[in-house]
Amino acid sequence: MDFIPTKDWYYTRAGDPRGYIQPHALQELWFHTGTACNLACPFCLEGSKPGDTRLDRITLEDAQPYIDEALTLGVEQFSFTGGEPFVVRDMVRILRYAATHRPCLVLTNGTEPVLRRLTQIAELRNCAHPVSFRVSIDWPDQSQHDAGRGEGSFQNAWEGMRALHALGFKVSLARQMRKDEDRDSVDAAYQALFAEWGLPVDTHIVAFPDFQVPHSEVDVPEITEDCMTRYQTEAQRRAYMCAYSKMLVKEQGEMKVFACTLVDDDARYGVRGSLRDAMAQRVLLRHHRCFSCFSMGASCSEL
Ligand code: SF4
Repeated sequence: MDFIPTKDWYYTRAGDPRGYIQPHALQELWFHTGTACNLACPFCLEGSKPGDTRLDRITLEDAQPYIDEALTLGVEQFSFTGGEPFVVRDMVRILRYAATHRPCLVLTNGTEPVLRRLTQIAELRNCAHPVSFRVSIDWPDQSQHDAGRGEGSFQNAWEGMRALHALGFKVSLARQMRKDEDRDSVDAAYQALFAEWGLPVDTHIVAFPDFQVPHSEVDVPEITEDCMTRYQTEAQRRAYMCAYSKMLVKEQGEMKVFACTLVDDDARYGVRGSLRDAMAQRVLLRHHRCFSCFSMGASCSEL
């Protein structure tokens, strides 16, 4: 660990041992491509926006050693999130290398950076393993989506998704979720849009709660060891992202391994070193987003 753990890392305010996850296998390796994005959505859990440098853009030279190490650990998939991955110059090179070895998933806003690079992206069809894309379309209502992401972004995202599908790539959709929503009717609204845009009506939809912007102080119940054994089974504990995946970020020019895709705003979850070192470390469930995993089974993964 890069920080000296204090008592509150291991114990809750009431003095109970804090719940934790012991990673068991590296099935999925995520790369954060950087917090630069062409959009500036006020709700972004990464705080991404044009020119943002909280997390640096990665290069193939940054990613390759970790891709190679992950292969020795039996990784099954490489996944990429941002920021917007396609504002990163090296993105197609990185994908070409990663997809030579394993299937890849890219989370994207589907707008101009994708539409501008479709010819390069099309080359990825020739890789040994498939590359798939998850496009963020927050709400099935254009004005609601554009209110968050900017005028025209709803139309652009659907065009990007349709273009990727037309090239033969598998696509899925990420949307936002309200606590009290009627899930079936929201999904039905998306299915009508899939039909309208010539996409398969059974396109996979991944719904996310509001994770809040980076460094938010959110008052959520604390998770104890007892919570993790009383209310969760071994199978549920093994399904937490931090149990079977890790994420690489580049911060101030240095690559670091984080416990999962959701905690890169807290340095206590980052480790300098190898993936093997990171997999050996218990993950303490102290971040407010851990409560979303505990209470809702929140996950960015499609494995
Ligand atoms: S946010 Fe979820 S996956 Fe990440 S460390 Fe917390 S419990 Fe694990």
